[in-house]
Amino acid sequence: SVASGYRGRFAPSPTGPLHFGSLLAAVASFADARAHDGVWLLRIEDLDRPREVPGAAEAIQRTLRAFGFEWDEPVVFQSARLDAYDAALARLEALGLVYGCGCSRAEIAARARAGLEGPIYPGTCRDGLPPGRKVRSLRLRTATDPIDFEDRIQGRHGHSVAESIGDFVLRRADGLHAYQLAVVVDDAWQAVTHVVRGADLLLSTPRQIELQRALGLPTPIHAHVPLVLDDQGRKLSKSLAAAPVDAADPLPALRLAWHLLGQESQAAVSLHDFWRHAIAGWRIERVPAGLSGSLRPGPGAM
Ligand code: GLU
Repeated sequence: SVASGYRGRFAPSPTGPLHFGSLLAAVASFADARAHDGVWLLRIEDLDRPREVPGAAEAIQRTLRAFGFEWDEPVVFQSARLDAYDAALARLEALGLVYGCGCSRAEIAARARAGLEGPIYPGTCRDGLPPGRKVRSLRLRTATDPIDFEDRIQGRHGHSVAESIGDFVLRRADGLHAYQLAVVVDDAWQAVTHVVRGADLLLSTPRQIELQRALGLPTPIHAHVPLVLDDQGRKLSKSLAAAPVDAADPLPALRLAWHLLGQESQAAVSLHDFWRHAIAGWRIERVPAGLSGSLRPGPGAM
């Protein structure tokens, strides 16, 4: 129902089939939305055409349907939203918050100190391009003040974007809009109130909050679910071709996801049953901030 005002979303990138780590985020996001009597949306983040796997967007939707997920509005494709990202860029530009950067990755790596996510941009082009250089990417002039937020699962988190990440890219050298910009524009456009997603994006959140403030957009409430690691303790990701979930047999994977999310076990015998219990029993305060070794799904657990 629309009555509660809660609007959540799941925003997969179509870089491969839905894997277990994404399923965990989708289960948490959907259960939280429905437990709040909220709306749940699906957005396909197909901005990075070169990394897209043909057919993955359709496959992800098929898999989600087979798992009993239902979205309440037409799917939004980021590839159809480029004008909105350009408009946001123009707005930031008008505010004097964007500058062109002519540095290559290698040049930055050679000069920069290490930050939270790779080298901190050393600010070479902040006050203008060095003579003879051409604009490659567009960057945000970041502020030094710390950006903290209260995560419903991870607790208090944050950092100064300028000091820990640096002036980050809004439009890449290949002309593509950056994920950070697109996600902020779309969450606002879709009036998303609650973001529930994987903890791999925890470090992105202060950048997104900084953009929201610069653009005068509201900041949603965040919950970052723990990452599922493989048996070597490495992060599962679609691009590493992590085991796709089996759409023909959704219940075991759903039960395992439910267990890893710290929720009370249920003996559901059908999808309908599973979701009925899940929505009634969802307690976000039970979700662990991280998954310890013993909780990792072993090979063949699904
Ligand atoms: N498209 C991103 C991903 O698949 C998620 C974006 C988000 O939830 O904010 O990792």
